Amino acid sequence: MQDTLTKKLFDVDNIRKDFPILGTFSNGKPLVYFDNAATSQKPVSVINAIGDYYRNYNANIHRGVYSISIKASDAYESSKRKVSEFINAKSDREIIYTRGATESINLIAYSFGADNVNEGDEIIISEMEHHANIVPWQELCKRKNAVLKVIPVTDTGELELDEYIKLLSDKTKIVSVGHISNTLGTINPVKDIISIAKAKNTNICCIVDGAQAVHHTKVDVRNIGADFYVFSSHKMYGPMGTGVLYGRAELLEAMPPYQTGGDMIENVSFSQTTFNEIPMKFEAGTPNVEGAVGLNAAIDYINSVGFDAIYVQESELLQYATEKLMEINGLRVIGTSQNKASVISFVVKGLNAFDIGVLLDGSGVAVRTGQHCTEPLMDKLCIPGTVRVSFAFYNTIEEIDIFIDALKKAIGVLQ
Ligand code: PLP
Repeated sequence: MQDTLTKKLFDVDNIRKDFPILGTFSNGKPLVYFDNAATSQKPVSVINAIGDYYRNYNANIHRGVYSISIKASDAYESSKRKVSEFINAKSDREIIYTRGATESINLIAYSFGADNVNEGDEIIISEMEHHANIVPWQELCKRKNAVLKVIPVTDTGELELDEYIKLLSDKTKIVSVGHISNTLGTINPVKDIISIAKAKNTNICCIVDGAQAVHHTKVDVRNIGADFYVFSSHKMYGPMGTGVLYGRAELLEAMPPYQTGGDMIENVSFSQTTFNEIPMKFEAGTPNVEGAVGLNAAIDYINSVGFDAIYVQESELLQYATEKLMEINGLRVIGTSQNKASVISFVVKGLNAFDIGVLLDGSGVAVRTGQHCTEPLMDKLCIPGTVRVSFAFYNTIEEIDIFIDALKKAIGVLQ
């Protein structure tokens, strides 16, 4: 009943009109954009909000006494409040803007890691992590002589929770896992993962990489119990170059700055500098005001569509595309967890993913090929790479039909 209701409220043709790029052509064919896990397209409201900022109130923030600077400062702060409400943080003081999920994780690794990880300590991640949630921890372990431990993944692409429990020890300082896998689409039980860690030791710092989650599902950082939660604006219909680091205020207050310079200080003299309060302590230099304004508009857009409608549309696309793909001889879907977001990776026997991607591009279909920044996962699965299609709520069943036809033709040419 709820589904039928939501479906009626969702008019994909109208939604698509909000995204100018979806009406364009690629290689002479209507663009079919199935690389949403890499970056999403932007609605007119986001594009216009950024244009309006530059046309009407572009100014540096927090310093100006004049009207447009005050307006720009207000827009920046109101964007933080919007993000805070969007993920149910306790306060907008817990929202730090970065360049993206990658920089957010690096900030935690450098700042929290500097004071809290010591020789022999252990950090737990998983086999399905994006490089952004692997390399910063590897480097921290090198700096500190700490140990990186890795939760294995099953053949269907799920985390082995029994193994995770065995990895936890008295030396565990950090657990950092992805909410949704960008390669497999698996939705990880992050709330359970965190409560297991906290039951072992409440001081274990639990980090969730939400880069693939915040636009698919309603995230409540307090309900999940995350100490830190990170994501990127550009994957959630907002502009590039802006990311979010949510951190519990007590942790952020105790952490040293990540970068230093203007805006993050309270007082500066040549003998001593004192630092600003959070979140400013972590935002050295002129921030990306345009990004904050665009992200604010992107959240408004997501809220106007609603997560119920997003879920219904994306689930239908996932199910339909999975069924159609499974009908193709020699094609294997990589990642068949019961609990999946609208991301499908696949391989075709004897064929190179890159070649398939190039031929699909000729038909106007944009997909991602390769390792998807998850090289250790590819090694574990003993495959060189996959073709990945990832859907947003603005994609359609008709587009999937175009893709499947183009894929069959590509396979015919390559075999
Ligand atoms: N984490 C996951 C799961 C991702 O999919 C990505 C990007 O694809 C990142 C982190 C890094 O995001 P960004 O490149 O926006 O910093």
